[in-house]
Amino acid sequence: MALGKTILVLGGGIGGLVAASRLRKGLSREHRVVLIERERDYVFAPSFLWLMTGLRQREKISRPLSKLRQQGIELIQGNIERIDPETHTAWVDGRKITGDYLVIALGAELAPETIPGLAEAGHNFYSLAGAEALRDARLELHAGRVVVLVCAMPFKCPAAPYEAAMLLEYDFRKRKLGEQIEVDLYSPEPGPMPVAGPEVSRQVRQMVEAKGIVYHPEHTVTQVDASARCVLFDNGASANFDLLAYVPPHRAPQVVAECGLTGESGWVPVHRQTLETQFPGVYAIGDVTGIMLSMGKPLPKAGVFAHGEAEVVAANLVNIISGKGKPARFEGHGECFIETGDGKAGFGNGNFYAEPMPEIKLRQPSRTLHVGKVAFEKYWLFEWF
Ligand SMILES: Cc1cc2nc3c(=O)[nH]c(=O)nc-3n(C[C@H](O)[C@H](O)[C@H](O)COP(=O)(O)OP(=O)(O)OC[C@H]3O[C@@H](n4cnc5c(N)ncnc54)[C@H](O)[C@@H]3O)c2cc1C
Repeated sequence: MALGKTILVLGGGIGGLVAASRLRKGLSREHRVVLIERERDYVFAPSFLWLMTGLRQREKISRPLSKLRQQGIELIQGNIERIDPETHTAWVDGRKITGDYLVIALGAELAPETIPGLAEAGHNFYSLAGAEALRDARLELHAGRVVVLVCAMPFKCPAAPYEAAMLLEYDFRKRKLGEQIEVDLYSPEPGPMPVAGPEVSRQVRQMVEAKGIVYHPEHTVTQVDASARCVLFDNGASANFDLLAYVPPHRAPQVVAECGLTGESGWVPVHRQTLETQFPGVYAIGDVTGIMLSMGKPLPKAGVFAHGEAEVVAANLVNIISGKGKPARFEGHGECFIETGDGKAGFGNGNFYAEPMPEIKLRQPSRTLHVGKVAFEKYWLFEWF
């Protein structure tokens, strides 16, 4: 009879990577850490923003997941087709795998096809292929209007569309096209990064508008007319474009929704400090979760939270299984750099679990903070591979 425990980590993105690595370091080899992921390579999504403006290559921001095997993590490369949270079982390309514990880190599924005309008309810079297509398409544009479009809430990385607009504007200006190309940003949000509070939202809006970007909050797209190159909104407005860069609607992965883990919000409800789901021994972390804050809005979806939550779940499983360490709690701390172009970045950080409102501070853009963001990218890709 095997004495060791098996932990199945579903998804090898930011949360799954951190959870599997920490579990492997914390547990002796009699216990198995199994990571299941359908992609061959891990790709660092925050760098899509640099890739789409030609500042990164795919190879520079990707790492083969097979390297994790050297750490003693059992990697299964395949598509998770079904999950049974009661029995801690996953089916991967027809193969059944059962563990003692499940850590669900399957992220958010992108659903551009839910908006008629969107996929054929624009570039989804939230995917690697879409960011590469946008990089190439922007070189074809010499005059006209670029629309950066946020389709629906929630979406991961609340700062990313604002950064994308500012980086595109800077890219055109650098290439002496600033006078000929206008950048507009449409979003259903009342203002940028609303969960960070009105002051941060005002400051980010000011950063965007100071670049000459025209910001249109409270616009929800209903469809895109690809042949007329026009976005239609539910308030009757419309926006013509020459180049469309979009953040697609997000939803929980189908395999998660089908297994009964999602709640009313469409995401997985968890204990906000331990990340336990309603099923004993089953944890969910990162973008797949729905954690309601006392202000009435959900915790944003971001890598920093996936990372922090993974640390907590791994520490607690190590503690439960081996008695090592102490129980940990996720306390809602988050931070993010905000690229503003011109070689600068701002930085927001604070406590998203603060009552009654998150307490977030924003540091104004500087070259030093941009260097900090570059250093973070290097650290991340070095640390986990
Ligand atoms: C352009 C952009 C910029 C960003 N910038 C930042 C930033 O500056 N700071 C920040 O904190 N966050 C940022 N983010 C957000 C961050 O990347 C995500 O919040 C983070 O990756 C979430 O981690 P996760 O582990 O929950 O999900 P993911 O990292 O998305 O991982 C989920 C994994 O599950 C796998 N998977 C899904 N379904 C299956 C299945 N059925 N079978 C097998 N495998 C499956 C996927 O292939 C994926 O690898 C950015 C995102 C984008 C797109």
